[in-house]
Amino acid sequence: MKPATKLWKLQLLAAQRRRAFSTSRCSRDNYAFIGLGQMGYQMARNLQAKLPPTDNVRLFDINKTAAETLVEEMKSQQAGGATAQVSESAAEAARDADTVITCLPEPQHVKSAYSSILAVDLRKRSQSRLFIDCSTIDPSSSREVAAAVSSALPNGQGNFVDAPMSGGVVGATAGTLTFMLGAPGSLITRIEPVLLRMGKRVLHCGPQGAGLSAKLANNYLLAIENIATAEAMHLGVRWGLDPKVLANVINISTGKCWPSEVNNPVPGVVETAPASRDYKGGFGIGLMRKDLRLAMLAAKEADAKIVLGDRATEVYEAAEGEERCKGRDFSVVYRWLGGKE
Ligand code: NAD
Repeated sequence: MKPATKLWKLQLLAAQRRRAFSTSRCSRDNYAFIGLGQMGYQMARNLQAKLPPTDNVRLFDINKTAAETLVEEMKSQQAGGATAQVSESAAEAARDADTVITCLPEPQHVKSAYSSILAVDLRKRSQSRLFIDCSTIDPSSSREVAAAVSSALPNGQGNFVDAPMSGGVVGATAGTLTFMLGAPGSLITRIEPVLLRMGKRVLHCGPQGAGLSAKLANNYLLAIENIATAEAMHLGVRWGLDPKVLANVINISTGKCWPSEVNNPVPGVVETAPASRDYKGGFGIGLMRKDLRLAMLAAKEADAKIVLGDRATEVYEAAEGEERCKGRDFSVVYRWLGGKE
């Protein structure tokens, strides 16, 4: 048997087994993927490739070329995967889907996509639909959309859960993302198999909204650690220390953190870090600023006192305003500080 045929048969068998345990009587699982940017494009590609040929994925992005290119890429794949089509709108993509995945930039994009999905005639839709939003937005906006989904007429449109991710474009491409899930415990067994086609870990953080709270708390910490690491490295180099020696001391001492160990901001200290390739690739400074803004908003709503956030925001804004730093990995703060490269 040819390897491709064998894989196809294995996928079919897995789909049949999966359905044997499913309460759905559908012979085909329908998916919609909305938002095919840097992350979504790769995630949708992995999802489609790992679904059996009996399933279907509808793709939508306001940039139609992204959806068209992806469908072409999917069709050219040797190993098969689910069938795929381009949709003309978010509503059309989601119309017959049992599972809808969204990966959009900001809260307003998520709200607008869901209001168009919920605006169509919903009477014939299944009420057990699952909406998984992987966008990084604020927990309040996410809860607002969840309420709109569960209160949509006639009897609610299913469940909306938040599953923001970490791992960046590299993780999205390799299918190794980590998802932080905010969902009722009863849905985990349904959600996990979907997310594990695009990532390698699903961390259940609590009820809807909790995934985003965890993601924003983590990225708040990262934002501060990154600046502190850049300052400490800059200071050490100014005092005459070899940056590799200093990084080694920090990384076996109490200052150790992801920016010091993996994403060190000084060029040449970690060969694989963006700093060693002119701060290209990695986690864009604009995205860091966005996550920090969302974390501050959520902190304000929770009446939580935080003191470093405003100063950190000023640092990222000032760095992003300089041409030599704009659009680069967020560790470029070291360059903005005037660090020796
Ligand atoms: P992106 O800007 O590259 O892509 C967003 C896509 O959404 C674009 O293709 C855009 O055309 C599309 N879009 C915008 N509004 C739309 C609408 N109403 N309907 C359909 N499509 C629409 O963003 P990205 O880097 O893919 O990030 C997506 C989300 O994931 C963001 O919330 C981001 O914060 C988060 N995230 C990104 C990274 C990363 O490294 N890029 C890492 C973790 C989390």
